[in-house]
Order: sequence, then C-alpha cells, then structure tokens
Amino acid sequence: MKKYTGKTIVVKYGGNAMIDERLKDAVMEDIILLNMLGIKTVLVHGGGPDINKLLKQIGKEAKFVNGLRYTDEETMEVVQMVLAGKVNKDLVARLCARNGKAIGLCGVDAGMIRCEKHAEQDLGLVGDIVDVNTFPVEQALNSGLIPVVATIGADSEGRTYNINADTAAAALAIALGACKLVSLTDIPGLLMDKDDESTLIHEVKISNVPKLVAQGVISGGMLPKIACCVDSIAKGVKEAVIIDGRKEHAILLEMFSDLGNGTLFY
Ligand code: ADP
Ligand code: MG
Repeated sequence: MKKYTGKTIVVKYGGNAMIDERLKDAVMEDIILLNMLGIKTVLVHGGGPDINKLLKQIGKEAKFVNGLRYTDEETMEVVQMVLAGKVNKDLVARLCARNGKAIGLCGVDAGMIRCEKHAEQDLGLVGDIVDVNTFPVEQALNSGLIPVVATIGADSEGRTYNINADTAAAALAIALGACKLVSLTDIPGLLMDKDDESTLIHEVKISNVPKLVAQGVISGGMLPKIACCVDSIAKGVKEAVIIDGRKEHAILLEMFSDLGNGTLFY
C-alpha cells in the first residue's frame, strides 16, 4: 500500500465492463477504498453500450466509415446526454451512496479537455485532444474528492466532441503525472488468441507492441487501449495494466496482491 499512498492513479472503466449492477457497485467499493487509503483516484469512464441503446430507442441508424462510427450532430447529442448525463451521474450517485465523495465532471468543465476535430479521417464530431488542463481534477483530488470524468471535450469555439475514453484516460494520466493507469475491460487482458482466455499475456514490454500489432494479436478495441498504455508509459506513467472488469474487486487484486492480474505494460 505504501507504494501508492499520496500518488495519483487513473482508472478507466470501459462501457463493455459495466455489465451488471452488482459489479458496478464492486468497482465503486474499490475506488472508495483507494480514496480512503489516501490514493488520489480519478475514474474515467466510457459508455458505448448505453449510447448504442439510446440510439436504437430513437431509431437512429448507425453510420460507419472503415468500421468506425461516424458521429453526426444528432449522434453527438445522444453521446453527450448519455455519457455526461446518465452514465457519469449514475457512477457518482453509486459512489456517494457509499459515502464516497465523488464529483462528476466532463472534459468540457473548466476547459479540462480541449480538442479539435479528428484530422486523420472524417468521423464527424470525434475529437483529437490538443490540451489537457488538470486544474479541475487536481482541485477535486486535493479536496479529497473522487473525480469521475466523462470523455466529452470542447474546441476553442465551444463545439463539443466525442473522445475515445482510453485516449482521454491516458492523456489525463500523463498530464497528472499519475503513477498508474488501470484499464477495466471485458476480457482478462491481452490474449495471444483473443478467443482463448488461457492465453493471457501477463507482461508486455512496450517495445514489443508493434510486433504484436503486425502479427494481428492486437486488434479491435485493444488497439486504442494498448496504444494508450504505450503512450502513457513512454510519457512517464510507471505502470499501465489492462484487467478484467467483470471480475469482482479486480482493481484491489491487481494492486494489492503479489499475483497481479491482467496484462501489465512496462
Ligand atoms: P472497452 O469498452 O473496455 O474499451 P473494447 O471492446 O473497446 O472494450 O476492447 C476490448 C475488446 O478488444 C475485447 O473484448 C476483444 O474483443 C478485443 N480484442 C482484440 N484483440 C484482443 C486480444 N488479443 N486480446 C484481448 N482482447 C482483444
Ligand atoms: Mg473501447
């Protein structure tokens, strides 16, 4: 525990791991315990499945470009409502119900995440982060609060964008000088064969990542997630781990047992 006291850690809670109420509460219990131990804990969340659900309810057809969602104006409204309104407040309410002093923020608040339209290809209102202002998160942490961050950002004209939650979590971890980035997802970690959970890779040196990408081992949602682990390690975060958010108390197991858990990038 000494290793972490007074340090900052960023936990990214992926939408796909928010599968049931009991599990969500177990994750919240872990976060509260870390906060009680004097570990400055920031929770950054996704919410893809909730966004998809509402889009379906309003009869909105998803549009894809090269397998990536195109975020038009109407979709962006839904993304903002669901992430900053529903998912963020639900997590904050769960934390507060357990006496965790959580405060919900999104990248728009106090200009925390400034972005511009994604440049590489036209995906609509998807943003690339150009600057992170850690002030609101640091103020919260220094007051003993648990910041819960929805990953919406704004550009210099006040237009809002959807930002990949892995990318935002890594950018925050780097800007905060966090000692650790923990990514909770819906799989045990990086698998050599993604359909065989017994092929978990326990540790990956970041210099070996390009080879794993070229071999096709890292694909789909793991690509941005691992790119973010690599980026954060390269920029001073000491450890980045991908762990199974479907396992109760996965965060505590990873941090406080010799066994570790999931895949560690170093
Ligand atoms: P999240 O909501 O946590 O960001 P994603 O669906 O974006 O989740 O990313 C996790 C997914 O990445 C896994 O469920 C899996 O389908 C996919 N994936 C691709 N390659 C691998 C791999 N080698 N090992 C594990 N998962 C992989
Ligand atoms: Mg993802």
